[in-house]
Order: sequence, then C-alpha cells, then structure tokens
Amino acid sequence: MNGTNDYPGAVDRYAEFLARVFDSDPSGRLRELPLPDPSAPIPELELQARWFAGELGREFTGVDGETIEVTQFGHWNRGEGPDFTEVGVKIDGELRRGAVEVDLEARSWEEHGHGANPAFDEVVLHIFLGPLTADAPRFHTRDSRHRGIVQLALDPSKLVRPSRPWGRLPEARRGRCATPLRYMRPNDLDSLLTAAAQYRLHQKGKRFAAIAEAHNENQALYQAVAEALGYRHNKLVMAVLAQRLPLAMLRRHDPIEREALLFGVAGFLDASQFENAADDEARRYLKGLWDHWWKHRAEHEPGADRRLAWKLSGTRPTNHPQRRVAALAALVNDWTKFRQRVTDTGVAKGAWTKGVREFLAGLEHDYWRHHYTLKASPSKKPLALVGPDRVRDLLGNVLFPAAIPGRPELWNAYLELPGSVENESLRRARLRLFGENEADRDRAAQWSGRYWQQQALLQVFADFCLEDASECDECPFPEQLKQWGRDD
Ligand code: SF4
Repeated sequence: MNGTNDYPGAVDRYAEFLARVFDSDPSGRLRELPLPDPSAPIPELELQARWFAGELGREFTGVDGETIEVTQFGHWNRGEGPDFTEVGVKIDGELRRGAVEVDLEARSWEEHGHGANPAFDEVVLHIFLGPLTADAPRFHTRDSRHRGIVQLALDPSKLVRPSRPWGRLPEARRGRCATPLRYMRPNDLDSLLTAAAQYRLHQKGKRFAAIAEAHNENQALYQAVAEALGYRHNKLVMAVLAQRLPLAMLRRHDPIEREALLFGVAGFLDASQFENAADDEARRYLKGLWDHWWKHRAEHEPGADRRLAWKLSGTRPTNHPQRRVAALAALVNDWTKFRQRVTDTGVAKGAWTKGVREFLAGLEHDYWRHHYTLKASPSKKPLALVGPDRVRDLLGNVLFPAAIPGRPELWNAYLELPGSVENESLRRARLRLFGENEADRDRAAQWSGRYWQQQALLQVFADFCLEDASECDECPFPEQLKQWGRDD
C-alpha cells in the first residue's frame, strides 16, 4: 500500500504486462480492435480539439502516401468556412499555407457542400477518421475549382475505445478478477497498482508534452487546467474555449478585457443574461464585462453553428460553467505567479504541493465570492472560486502529471495526495475489482484512499473492463495476475 517505486521505474512493467496480455489473448480480440461504433462516434468537436491541440502528432502519411508535417496549427475559425485557418503544412517537403477541414467522415466534404463553396478553396488538408479499407468506396476531396486536396485518414484506434460505446459503463457488479486479487500478496498488489498508476501518469505526461510541443508549455498548462476546471460535463468545451482564446493572446489584454473575452466567447454575455441577472450587483458586473466585450465582439464572437454548448443538467451550482470561466480568468490574471509555483524547482517536495494548493485555493473574485451563477441570488456564505475538491483534482490530474516527468522526485509527494471524491467510474472499478460485501468494501477502501491508488484502479478499469464485451468470461486479466508476482 506504499506505491514506493521511484518514478518512472514501474511504467515499463505495466506496459510490458499489457503487451503480454495482448499477445496472449487467444482470440486476438483485444489486439484487433473493431471499428468505432457508428451509433456512438467521437464527437466532431472533440476530434477537432484533439487535432488542434497537437495530441495526435504533427507528422503523418496522407491517403495517397504523401508525407505530411504540420508546421503551424493555425487558429480556430469562428465563422463560416473551414475549421482552422492560417495553418502551415509541409506536403512532401513543400510548405503550403491555408486552411484545414476536420470531419468525421471523408464523404462529409461533399455532403456539406464544401466542394462547391469557394470559402473552402483555401483548404490544403482534409482530415477525417479512417481507416480506408480496399473495398470501401473512395471519396475524393476537391475544391470549387476542381483541384484535388490532400487527404489524411486518422487512425480511430488512437482516438476512441471502439468496443465500448461512449458513455456506457460496464455493469456495476463483482468481476471475475476479484477473487485472484483478494488472494494476491499485498506486496504484489501494491506493485501492480504502483505500476498502473505510474503508467497512467506517464500517459498524461505524454499528452501534455505533445500539446506543449505543438504550441508551448504555457498553452499546454492553460488548456489542461481549463479542461480540468470543466470537470466531467464541460471538459471538452472548456478545452475548446482555451484553444479559441490562447493564453498568449489573452495576456496581451488588461485583466478586465481578458475576463470579458472569456465570458463573451463562452456565450455568457448575451441579452438574456442581462434580463435574467440575479440582482443589481450582477447587472453591474455584466455591464463592466460588456463595456469591453463589445469592442472585441466582431472579431471573436463565434458564428451560430460554432457556439459552445455547455452542459448544465447534472452540474452542481459550485461547478456551474460560469464559475469555471471566472476561475480560469482569475488564473490567467495571476499567471506569472501560478507558473512560478508550478515550475519552482527550489522547494522541497511537500512545499511544492502546499505552494500550488494555497495559490489555487486563494484565487478570489468579488462577484463570484457571493454568487453561484449570473442568475442566482447572492449566497449567504462566501464561496471559494476553486474549492478543495477541484484543487485536489487539478493537482492529481494536471499539475503532478505535467511536473513529474521533469522532476521525478515529486512522485513521493504525489503518493501523499488524498483520494478524490467518488465518481461513477471509480465506484464501478472498486465494485468490479474488489466485490461488494462488507469485507470487500473495507479492502477496496484500504486500496483506494490515495489519489494514485484511484488512478491505478481507473487504469485497470480502462484497459480491461472497458475493453471487455464478454461479462468478464474472456477477460485475460484474472489469469495474467498469477504471473505478476513471479516477475519480481
Ligand atoms: S472485465 Fe476483467 S478486469 Fe474487469 S472486472 Fe471483469 S475480470 Fe476484472
């Protein structure tokens, strides 16, 4: 229960464990992932956001064998026309500047009428989800002048977990691996969970590094924090907001303008917000934002079909997206200090966590200290802009994974981080891996009290439970567990 392996000592061990499971899978089911379920594809906005972030890489091979290197990811288009503008792409070594269109399917180009629309004549690259099989019909991409456009078919297995439709979790019941896990030696279970936790943290660190490589470290940190502030329901929308208003651009403005830009692009400064404002204080606050937003509106307001769609149902008042955007604005306004805390290499491990935690918990805002939303009546008690649960998740999900690859000694501080509040995936993971009677629940609590332990359980859940379509019958995890202790 210690998680003591130095980082990244156990990353490879879990990766090798996974590779062995895949190789030993007699049916080949896990290796040959089926195509994405067409009834539940990756949302197009997410595909676009992940492309633009640089998570999918910047070097590819085109459908007709062209070498493709993205030199500049450009900007989100807020109006009509292709998704991204001012993009730089080298095709077979020749630099082309123009636009990029990202669709879920190749055929969407013609179905959406782009081939006849001169607004798409600047497109230099059309991206969609592959694979293109030999027997599948080929849909070419041509502009209104009948010029062929280079196509890039992305590998869907890098984007989605195809066998499990989006949003649907495996059954909440004891799994077949609960018995071998119960009889596993504590040291072996500890080393398995340590390896799974390190592997998960390593994957998050790699994603962060890819975004930093495509843009820069500040932008990667800003986008990752925005995403984490979006919590479960609004992660993607917050990430896109951070992409549409990059940090470097926001920081060229005054603090009140930054806040106005974030609220305006988020869609929170329309007339209905004024009409339904909670009180005079809310109206004054909105007017202050509007006084700056109107100057930038023409340049930044998204067109009707590019507006951000916030999810409000099931969101607790303290997690309302308006509060999250306010928290992001407060963070941007104090970015230099935040970045210093995160990158400070001169402090002891425990002091690093304390410094970052105190900074985040200390973010303040006059209006949001007493209001849950723009419409809600003032709260009697003061409200933290970033509450303790969110601070812990920012540390565990973003800041430690971003920092540890460069400062592996922080791994020991990460081990101290208390567990997060329960979510549905974690509840199911604990139930499936440990069981449901009282003694099982005690063991589950014993092995999931810390953040790293929860991350380890979620990694096993993702690698096996989410990939399993046999109600545990064909899952190779229980049999492979016997091997784990013997490898030492
Ligand atoms: S799918 Fe595999 S890992 Fe998940 S509960 Fe069943 S046996 Fe365990």
